[in-house]
Amino acid sequence: MAHSDLTSRDVASLANPAGLMENQYAPCRWACPVHADVRTYIQLVAEGRFAESVDVIRNRLAFACVCGRVCHHPCEKNCRRQDVDEAVAIRELKRFVAEKVGSSGCTVSRPETQNKARVAIVGSGPAGMSAALELARKGYRPTVFEKHHLAGGIPMTAIPKYRLPRDVLQMDVDWIVAHGVEVVTGAEIGKERTLPSLLKDGFAAVILATGLASSRMLPLPNINHPRVYPVLDFLRELAFDRQPAIGSDVLVVGGGNVAMDAARSAVRLGARRVRAVCLENEQEMPAWEWERTEALEEGVTFIHRRGPVEVVTDGGSIRALRTRGVKSVFDADKRFNPQYDDSDIQDLECDTVVFAIGQAPDFAFTHDSGLEMDSRGRLAFNPLTQQTSMPNIFACGEIVTPPGSVVEACASGVRVAAAVDMHLQTGSIRFNDALPEKIGTIPAVTAGKVLKFQRQAVDIAPANERVAGWSEVDHNLTEEAALGEARRCMGCGGGAEVMVDKCAACMTCVRVCPFGIPKVTDVARIDSALCQSCGICIAECPAGAIISRSLPVGDVQMRTRHAVELLPAGRKIVAYIGGFKASAADWVGQSESVEGVAKVYLASTTRLAVSDMLHALTLADGVVVVGCGQGLDRYPQSAGRTSLRVDHARRLLQSAGFNANAVQISLAAHEGLAGVNEAIRQAISQMSQP
Ligand SMILES: Cc1cc2nc3c(=O)[nH]c(=O)nc-3n(C[C@H](O)[C@H](O)[C@H](O)COP(=O)(O)OP(=O)(O)OC[C@H]3O[C@@H](n4cnc5c(N)ncnc54)[C@H](O)[C@@H]3O)c2cc1C
Ligand code: SF4
Ligand code: SF4
Repeated sequence: MAHSDLTSRDVASLANPAGLMENQYAPCRWACPVHADVRTYIQLVAEGRFAESVDVIRNRLAFACVCGRVCHHPCEKNCRRQDVDEAVAIRELKRFVAEKVGSSGCTVSRPETQNKARVAIVGSGPAGMSAALELARKGYRPTVFEKHHLAGGIPMTAIPKYRLPRDVLQMDVDWIVAHGVEVVTGAEIGKERTLPSLLKDGFAAVILATGLASSRMLPLPNINHPRVYPVLDFLRELAFDRQPAIGSDVLVVGGGNVAMDAARSAVRLGARRVRAVCLENEQEMPAWEWERTEALEEGVTFIHRRGPVEVVTDGGSIRALRTRGVKSVFDADKRFNPQYDDSDIQDLECDTVVFAIGQAPDFAFTHDSGLEMDSRGRLAFNPLTQQTSMPNIFACGEIVTPPGSVVEACASGVRVAAAVDMHLQTGSIRFNDALPEKIGTIPAVTAGKVLKFQRQAVDIAPANERVAGWSEVDHNLTEEAALGEARRCMGCGGGAEVMVDKCAACMTCVRVCPFGIPKVTDVARIDSALCQSCGICIAECPAGAIISRSLPVGDVQMRTRHAVELLPAGRKIVAYIGGFKASAADWVGQSESVEGVAKVYLASTTRLAVSDMLHALTLADGVVVVGCGQGLDRYPQSAGRTSLRVDHARRLLQSAGFNANAVQISLAAHEGLAGVNEAIRQAISQMSQP
């Protein structure tokens, strides 16, 4: 057990047992830089509750749409489903739901009054916009100053449109702005407005979020030739729909993801030959494997272990890039320390060169501000408080962190907003950065019992179609595929937990659990980190001593009451349906119904207790349970267990002198809506039979 024993008093004091999950993070949430509640938003997708799902994502992540497209998804690398088959496609699910709901479909929660201090943010990238959003949510009046004419940072000015269409990015920007964030574009700080002038204009604090604004270049002969592009300039021209002038033979210098973006863009611009030359060998190249593969498919070729020496020109045009051999790139301590072989000189023919060898911050705008630099020429910065050398000037994102990712920049923006708030409200800044415990791996014996479901693949356009334009490369999941994928999530940490004061140690949970999780010592113990959330033990515990961490206590009965209240007068029937194969419309009650029937969808009918069926009969005239056929539900033994419980309910009714036929069961939930509706009609016709 990761925490002290749970009692019924603890549960009574909780508004929602979901609060228990804050003590332990599922590995996906733990690994996510903003600690988005992945488990919850995926479960909401599985139930077709898309807008609620996006609200959960956006609670932590301002750039939900952008991250749905380009996040490096450390969550997936940590997903426990890998212990069973393959990781849940978390990023694809985020993309599906965020774009389906759009910026207008999700909640904008502005505080009633937004009259706290004005805060200036320099830079509208993921870090700056996340900081602005958080400050607006806390009641401040943030103004973002952006030097370009469009907000969004690198996702707007550099990430190619075939990976991130701009209308997708705009959804995030619009949603952030709707919270009362002012964005002033075309406003480069350091020109008309300066850092001192912002403070003089009444901003109580300033946040620097200018990212890595310049491309690193090398002091080589002819480096300033107009056909030698710093990578950010090259990509920015494309981002703003201005065609950079290139020849037909493009050489990209660099082996990282940014170099891949440049090379793949050059292919789309129509270059006859595009090559990327880098210091590293194939294994050392920092570009992600999928990006390398897609670049190769699109015709980019790689030249390894060569470093640039000179841009060779002939009659004003570029003729080649002169290179030398590389003996090694990293030293014994794995530090970047390239060693060259100057006897190995080779000219690589080309007419255009793009340098993608890294980006660096541009501190020019801080001149005359009084801000101090450290001994290595970087902004003096305290990562514990997010402050620079001036207490009311803060910094976040890549201007002060190593080059990273959009989601990491968002996390940094959230943190700086908290720092500014503490500073302005209390004068001191103290963070507790400790994270809750991370749920560990699943033992092989448990993993072996979890039913396997194949990960839903995303369609990727064939290379010849991709290179023909700037359309997106990979397509979104269909709704059906998204629901199927979301149902692969094991809801880690959202499982069962015993209230020790109610447990009679009767061993029922040990007997019924298909995964062998409960153990009984003095009382039953269920390791919620291992539990698969099937709910069988919760439904069958005779003492009612087990709760689900992911569902409110009495959830089924509350939903039943609500559904029955919506029925017109007349005969009323409650149908409990295993929703493993249900569509989103089924789940949210928008699909075709059967007259007089209140449908209640459940993740699995394993979660339906005998007491739930009997409770339903106090509100309605009959109960139909529609489960999935044997082996077609997400949990093993579900059909058998549900049938046993229906039999039990019927026996109780009979022994009490009531009509046992008022409870019916059909195993047709896997047949889809038509099958379910037909099963309900047939079951109703059986109710009045003797
Ligand atoms: C080509 C490329 C592709 C990438 N692909 C991915 C990817 O697929 N996935 C991923 O997660 N990450 C990717 N990244 C990294 C990601 O874009 C960054 O980690 C992230 O954008 C950093 O956010 P930031 O807010 O710190 O800075 P930025 O996004 O750089 O934003 C800084 C903003 O400040 C503005 N600014 C600068 N100086 C001034 C000034 N003086 N006055 C006013 N405004 C100013 C800039 O114009 C810019 O809009 C990529 C980066 C590059 C370069
Ligand atoms: S199975 Fe679901 S809850 Fe568990 S780690 Fe993967 S995404 Fe997270
Ligand atoms: S909810 Fe299911 S998996 Fe978890 S302990 Fe109970 S019976 Fe076992």
